[in-house]
Amino acid sequence: MKATDRDSALRVEMSALEEQADGGKARELHWKPMSWWLGTLRPTTVDDAWAPAIWQTFFTSTLGLEVPVLSSLPRHHNLPAAKCGCKKFLLDVHGDHISTCTAYSGATKAHDWMVGRLGPLFRTAGHRVRTQHGVSTSAENRQKRGDVEILNYLQDAAGSRNLVFDLAVTHDRIGSSAQPHHNGLLSHPHDLDAPLHVAARKKINTYRDQYANHRNITFMPAITSTSSRMHGEFLRLLFLQAHRETTAHFTPRHRHASATTLRLISLSPRGILQWPEEQSRSGCGQDGGNADQS
Ligand SMILES: [Zn+2]
Repeated sequence: MKATDRDSALRVEMSALEEQADGGKARELHWKPMSWWLGTLRPTTVDDAWAPAIWQTFFTSTLGLEVPVLSSLPRHHNLPAAKCGCKKFLLDVHGDHISTCTAYSGATKAHDWMVGRLGPLFRTAGHRVRTQHGVSTSAENRQKRGDVEILNYLQDAAGSRNLVFDLAVTHDRIGSSAQPHHNGLLSHPHDLDAPLHVAARKKINTYRDQYANHRNITFMPAITSTSSRMHGEFLRLLFLQAHRETTAHFTPRHRHASATTLRLISLSPRGILQWPEEQSRSGCGQDGGNADQS
């Protein structure tokens, strides 16, 4: 996708990173969800290490295969006989219901886990960050605030502004349905990015009124999907942050502060951006799953 987009919340910042010479090629960003697998991946702490069952679930759900922990459950009429914690629907072998159930789901936990990872990520390079754990947009009357607020992250001619983003992990397939025979099918088979756009639009509609008249805050949705697809705005934000990290790293006075942070950007530990020196060492380089210039 294009790095600089007229409608992007980050257009000023991304535009400043474009090659400024006349006729310079516009930067493009690429995201290849599974390609980090080819590079070197290590958990930063023991707590971040995945048990084999989580690896299995990750790969099978990303590829759209039956999830072993679900398909090994006792079956009735070839479907798992177990019900979701919502007590309304049976589980399905692809995990489609459980990925989308609004009443009872690991999705909220996964979301909060991700917010917990993203806060510290943006604290590097000198940024101050506020995070809102467990903010739910489902409680209609609750005051809505984005998950993460990065103070003075954006800058234009009028001065600096805070960036607020709200995270959502959307699902690519049909789920949470009273018609279980639809589970396992893509919700938008002719436009694989459509679930990302739908989720982004929903976030913008949710927050529009709250931030519309806030001259000091810019809001943007941060959307990924359970198959590791990533919405353009979120990819731009990660690229911008990676760029700032790298710049800070090679600026002597910040060098001590940021050495360990960007080695792994772990988004539901699926997306990995690596340091430039790591890229060349591991040999994954241009095809290494990085948000990179083509
Ligand atoms: Zn349920």
